[in-house]
Amino acid sequence: MNASPDADAATRPFREAVVDLDAIRENVADLARLVAPAQAMAVVKADAYGHGAVPVARAALAGGATWLGVADLAEAVAIRAAGIRAPLLAWLHDPDAAFATAVERDVDLGVSSLAQLEAIVAASASVGRPARVHLKIDTGLSRNGVAPEAWAEAVAAAVRLERAGRVRVRGIFSHLANTSAEEDAAQLAAFEAALAAASAAGLAPEVRHIASTAGALRRPESRYDLVRLGIGIYGIPPFGDGTKAADLGLRPAMTLRGRVAAVRRIDAGTGVSYGHAWRADRPTTVALVPLGYADGVPRQASGRGEVWLAGARRRIVGRIAMDQFLVDVGDDAVAVGDEVVLFGDPATGAPSADDWGDAADTIGYEIVTRIGPRVPRTYVGGA
Ligand SMILES: *Cc1c(COP(=O)(O)O)cnc(C)c1O
Repeated sequence: MNASPDADAATRPFREAVVDLDAIRENVADLARLVAPAQAMAVVKADAYGHGAVPVARAALAGGATWLGVADLAEAVAIRAAGIRAPLLAWLHDPDAAFATAVERDVDLGVSSLAQLEAIVAASASVGRPARVHLKIDTGLSRNGVAPEAWAEAVAAAVRLERAGRVRVRGIFSHLANTSAEEDAAQLAAFEAALAAASAAGLAPEVRHIASTAGALRRPESRYDLVRLGIGIYGIPPFGDGTKAADLGLRPAMTLRGRVAAVRRIDAGTGVSYGHAWRADRPTTVALVPLGYADGVPRQASGRGEVWLAGARRRIVGRIAMDQFLVDVGDDAVAVGDEVVLFGDPATGAPSADDWGDAADTIGYEIVTRIGPRVPRTYVGGA
């Protein structure tokens, strides 16, 4: 038991990103319930959007996710190395990827071209069992995936290889641009056509999937057999239209916080931080927060971002530097060592990752994903 808040604070790191694994588990459980009977894939690429891939994967599986998804094969290998056995898909490949590794570790592979399919089949020959692949059709994102005009040829090759026992086409998938209702509908129509062509040619995939969090929430017709849930499981809304996590029944999992490193009383006219981009217009107190752009605090948010400190939201003043920035606390009592929360659950009064996204002209996704390596991740919940 902590005798006082100060004793508690004294045991805290100077900077930390606290990840609440119960929030992850509950967000997954709520989303899985919403999309059922479709299955839920937890997308844990980019170190689970900065939250830590292995602990998040475990919490998501506990919440009812039946699949895991990553971009790179190396990310999938790290998940297998931690002993996690759930179905796992990787979809963005180095042209020289060691695909045999994927087959050895039971990692399903997204396939975006005939050449990629052939490389995967050639690599799996040495393993002695067929690779499991998910053929990806580009329905309009114009990013990865087989082009519609190349689809028939890729499907024909996949049918031939599957009949020869050299590959198993376990899935067919695509990705929505989340542009507008009309454009999403056009993508879904293109997906339907690709599925029909694949079925006519003789493919019978176990899972068809196209929706990420946005589609899973707003377009029930896009859920098919499986939805790939990224940002939603972290408790951050996907829409960028002012919708709050709480409106969606989701709870932000990450709290980024630190401890005040210095407090200074300044006179009217005093400039602070590089270039004196801000000068006090009255005598005031500024508090030094020991996180900067090295830690993923966007310099773009200088003068705009806010933190939660001593019971109120406080505005950043002056430029955000590599390691630190200042906030204006007026005449309030703030002490060295006080806890300062950059973002967390808005229900606590703190700003959200999305608020920082707005302050830096970006999105909540980028804010959490770019928290730097100097910030330790600590975990609560998820026992
Ligand atoms: C990142 C990603 C997702 C998850 O998207 P969210 O918007 O975070 O839910 C799903 N599918 C693919 C192919 C992705 O790259």
